[in-house]
Amino acid sequence: MAANEPRQPPLTTAAWTRDLAVPESALAIGAHPDDVEFGAGGTLAKWAAAGCVVHHLICTDGSKGTWDVDADLPGLVVRRQHEQREAARRLAGDRAGDVRFLGRVDGELSADRETVSAVVRVIRELRPGVVLGHDPWKRYRLHPDHRAAGLLVCDGIIAARDPHFFPEHGIAHHRPSALLLWEADEPNHVEDVTATVSTKLDALESHESQFETTMHAADPDALEPFRIRIRTRSVELGAPFDFAAGEIFRLMTDL
Ligand SMILES: [Zn+2]
Repeated sequence: MAANEPRQPPLTTAAWTRDLAVPESALAIGAHPDDVEFGAGGTLAKWAAAGCVVHHLICTDGSKGTWDVDADLPGLVVRRQHEQREAARRLAGDRAGDVRFLGRVDGELSADRETVSAVVRVIRELRPGVVLGHDPWKRYRLHPDHRAAGLLVCDGIIAARDPHFFPEHGIAHHRPSALLLWEADEPNHVEDVTATVSTKLDALESHESQFETTMHAADPDALEPFRIRIRTRSVELGAPFDFAAGEIFRLMTDL
């Protein structure tokens, strides 16, 4: 498009798609522990309750997720892995699948060839029907790991689906049926999460190390404003579609 050509207006909500068929398995790829729950926790919990196996892949070690200048950072990394596994269990119960960690340094994630290869390997091993991740094209997104994780998801899907990318894996290629990008720049799909906002919150609250930095609560008793913020946002997102609560995405199915 020419530089001075205006952007396409967002789709009217009437043109949005709603509620994908529940896949047999899903893989959510987040930059940090807790990103998956924020982005798609209600949707994943809903799918798990309907039988979908929910896998998590976390790209970085979360080692910068504290304001404590004297923090034990190796200890924080271990703690955050434990919290992510607990969040996965709370989201999906007995349908919780793998929780994998690429272990890249927090704040230094890159969609380089080696890291794309690592993501492709996970997609090919787990063979999810739907992949979910950050939208790398979200305007004015500040956190570099969120941009890089989004590119890793998109580049990873392209390479995972084609047999001549990374043949050294020795694993059959795999083409997911759909990609959902959360925090999308131009969303076009909504999931009704009326029944699972509470589950999403429960999973988010497993990230106890993030109460202060992300949820702005010095202790668990101070979490109520955070809960209200998440619930209010879910209500706002669902309202145009007559859902009591919603999560919205950019849906791509022509993968
Ligand atoms: Zn993050």
